[in-house]
Amino acid sequence: DYPDIATPLRTQAIMNQYGINTKKSLGQNFLTDLNILKQIVQAGNVQASDNVIEIGPGIGALTEQLARAAKEVVAYEIDDRLIEVLAGTLAPYKNIKVINQDILKVDLKTAVTTEFSDSTAPLKLIANLPYYITTPILMQVLETGMPFEAIVVMMQKEVANRLAAKPGTKEYGSLSLAVQYRMQAHVAFNVDRTSFIPNPNVDSAIVVLEPREPLEVLPKNERQLFELFKIGFAMRRKTLWNNLTTAFGKTGTMQTKLLNALELVQIDPKIRAEKLTLEQFIALHNALSDEGV
Ligand code: SAM
Repeated sequence: DYPDIATPLRTQAIMNQYGINTKKSLGQNFLTDLNILKQIVQAGNVQASDNVIEIGPGIGALTEQLARAAKEVVAYEIDDRLIEVLAGTLAPYKNIKVINQDILKVDLKTAVTTEFSDSTAPLKLIANLPYYITTPILMQVLETGMPFEAIVVMMQKEVANRLAAKPGTKEYGSLSLAVQYRMQAHVAFNVDRTSFIPNPNVDSAIVVLEPREPLEVLPKNERQLFELFKIGFAMRRKTLWNNLTTAFGKTGTMQTKLLNALELVQIDPKIRAEKLTLEQFIALHNALSDEGV
């Protein structure tokens, strides 16, 4: 057994040894709480048969715990300075591959087939994400349509609550819909800012995404559906009608088309988008599409 990386003392010692000062611009906050790390691995129910992708291994605190539980771990780290550190801290583990790449430039679908020795093993994504690009990373990952058995990600608490939000709540919006269209989401637990070196100036939470029930009705055009999410919430306080006419236009013919679509799917133009379920958004999108909007 090897000593854990994730204690405040060892983390500080590793940073000193390699002369690493954390970069705020890269969202570098290293976890130094072993309990939290173990809870993250548990939230993903990581098994010895699983392939795990990690984004942003830092100095390897989470990577190490993942390697102990999983079959193989492939970790993407953008900061070249940390590659040497990781080679040292993770040397005892033979089932980890660290790749020095910006995750936003990785073709994950291809990577899975080339980086893992058995690409048919169950796939999970587990990461303490750099907060400045949480949403772009998640959107890119979800858009691949890859069959993740679980995605367990740490992010800013407010963003976590938006991902998992249900209709009718103030956190519910286009981000909730975009995520829940692909997977079901729940907040597993919150993480205090004192669990990191350095302490971030926000609180964090762990979100678990799991395969969702297949949708009964599919959208005619995914890209346009995602546009409609944004249009609906363009001005949160305004009615759906207001946001629709602002986006699509106020001419007589357009108003007729919009009203026809809304009537067909029995949605009151005067409600706010925050009341609409994902299924209602899909129905509305399909009706608008039939009207040629
Ligand atoms: N996993 C470590 C932990 O929990 O202690 C570090 C997490 S830290 C919040 C985020 C990590 O993501 C940093 O190591 C940072 O260098 C890395 N990172 C930032 N932007 C990245 C990108 N575009 N691609 C890959 N890694 C990135």
